[in-house]
Amino acid sequence: MTSAPATLVLDGRFARELPELALPWQAADTPDPRVLALNEPLAAELGLDPGWLRGDGIGLLTGTLVPDGATPVAQAYAGHQFGGYSPRLGDGRALLMGELVDASGRLRDLHLKGSGRTPFSRGGDGLAAVGPMLREHVVSEAMHALGVPTTRSLAVVATGRPVQRETVLPGAVLARVASSHLRVGTFQYARATDDVDLLRRLADHAIARHHPAAADAPHPHLALFEAVVAAQAALVAQWMHVGFVHGVMNTDNMTISGETIDYGPCAFMDAFDPTTVYSSIDTGGRYAYGNQPVVAEWNLARLAEALLPLLADEQDAAVAVAVESLGTFRDLYSAAWSAGMRTKLGLPDGVDRAEASTLVTDLVALVQADHVDHTSFFRSLGAAARGDAEAARGMFLDLAGFDAWTARWLRLGPDADAMDRTNPVYVPRNHLVEEALDAATAGDLAPLDRLLEAVSAPFDERAGLERYAEPAPDSFGSYTTFCGT
Ligand code: AMP
Ligand code: MG
Repeated sequence: MTSAPATLVLDGRFARELPELALPWQAADTPDPRVLALNEPLAAELGLDPGWLRGDGIGLLTGTLVPDGATPVAQAYAGHQFGGYSPRLGDGRALLMGELVDASGRLRDLHLKGSGRTPFSRGGDGLAAVGPMLREHVVSEAMHALGVPTTRSLAVVATGRPVQRETVLPGAVLARVASSHLRVGTFQYARATDDVDLLRRLADHAIARHHPAAADAPHPHLALFEAVVAAQAALVAQWMHVGFVHGVMNTDNMTISGETIDYGPCAFMDAFDPTTVYSSIDTGGRYAYGNQPVVAEWNLARLAEALLPLLADEQDAAVAVAVESLGTFRDLYSAAWSAGMRTKLGLPDGVDRAEASTLVTDLVALVQADHVDHTSFFRSLGAAARGDAEAARGMFLDLAGFDAWTARWLRLGPDADAMDRTNPVYVPRNHLVEEALDAATAGDLAPLDRLLEAVSAPFDERAGLERYAEPAPDSFGSYTTFCGT
């Protein structure tokens, strides 16, 4: 086995500070590793040489190369899945390789998904298929380029090992980078041990890594909770602005950092409709587009429950402060959502808030009634602000309604350039993602690379990429996503 450069240091801070949540483990061997996608700018940010990662260092991306001093671990966590509590989930097909300090001094987790069975695997095989790992690569990079906080994908490496799903598929490992992998479910797991010292260490670890200002607050653990509430309110508002449907907002898939995590059956909404659901298993629509803010609040209530022993000595007092802090979520979310909508409409700062709010509400009713394509519509408003409303108008049946709304909006003096910096031309549309993943699974990476090129610079309209800006053809039909386990 080749060794890692001596300069590559993978710390084991999580494992050292929280050994009860970290099971030392090693990745499965990979018969024939081959890089399918490598995020070179991210590699550079992490101080990793892309040439080395493609060659001798490929094992760092699959877990078969463990730098000296590193201790890969499977992380323990619990979680509410579709509302039902599972006391022991954990990394069933993932490993935390360790933490790296990046070029700007930030601590980043290097984590693998699809790296083989662990003590948390239950009935699963610990593996992942090429398609779902490339989906996470594309969608998380698109989210990053859209300015939405997210885990990042460093690479996807085909393992050469087949994976049995409904059919036999080629296997892959995703190398993921995150500011940490602490989840609401991590706190639920620690709470369930009844070890208050562990819970306190976990909270202190989270404060140090993500919300350091909380350390100076009169009540640091309450301040941590409030910081997570604020981060999630801002995050989910951003999802709504870009039309992102996470698809599986279980408490184990919600981070403490406020980064989007665990891209499974996620998708970007085409026609605007709050009831939009893509996931095959979300039959009740629990994680529908329009439900995401309410679900985030529900998940944060579960975090509050887990934190109760740290919030006050008496349970009643702890519940009272938790309820009060959780009560800030709705206002924070509304303020973030409204501010983002004003930006999407290019409204200048001085515009009356109440007038802007009515304008937004009326627009939402119009686009919903006419099933207007979310991404194309907002992008086309840039041209409308410049005096050419034809493209936007062409998306409506209710032309009188659109014209009346547009006249009101134009009187407020929208800033077209600002709109073009916030309303993307390109998002990873479902039909394009499917096309790219199908081709990649069959061995052709060209459509994937082209899609990545489009969504990595989503605001920058380029000749030759027209089809990446268009809604799915009718022949694509309705779309269903699968969990990819
Ligand atoms: P996810 O749906 O990816 O958020 O995963 C939910 C839980 O199922 C986590 O505990 C995963 O580690 C576990 N899991 C998902 N897929 C597999 C698999 N193929 N093998 C073992 N565990 C898995
Ligand atoms: Mg998960």
